Amino acid sequence: MKKDIFVTVINCMDGRIQEAVIKYMSEKYDVNYIDNITEPGPNKVLATNEDAELLNSIKRKLDISINIHGSRVISVVGHYDCAGNRVDYETQIKDIKKSIDLLQSWDLEVDEIIGLWVDENWKVHEV
Ligand SMILES: [Zn+2]
Repeated sequence: MKKDIFVTVINCMDGRIQEAVIKYMSEKYDVNYIDNITEPGPNKVLATNEDAELLNSIKRKLDISINIHGSRVISVVGHYDCAGNRVDYETQIKDIKKSIDLLQSWDLEVDEIIGLWVDENWKVHEV
């Protein structure tokens, strides 16, 4: 039986990747509940680290997921054909890594921050 605990995903809003990402996180961490924080191209938002309003919105949602739901894992997602981050594969991966660096600099009370790439077949890979 999966654990009734939460993990957190900072995902793109794109409907094509929701189920794959939720399934991946649920199986990897053996948990029932995935908190979804969605933006178009969230790896771009975090990697550029410029849009204070959006960043604060993400922080507010992370605060609830971590400090009220008790999540100890965050994943940040990039994917193929993202309308919110229209760059090539290499840049997408760089943006995911930069996003992880930024999240780590926020000193969140989590054990793990990972990056996920969703490919053209909607398969999930760890970055
Ligand atoms: Zn997208």
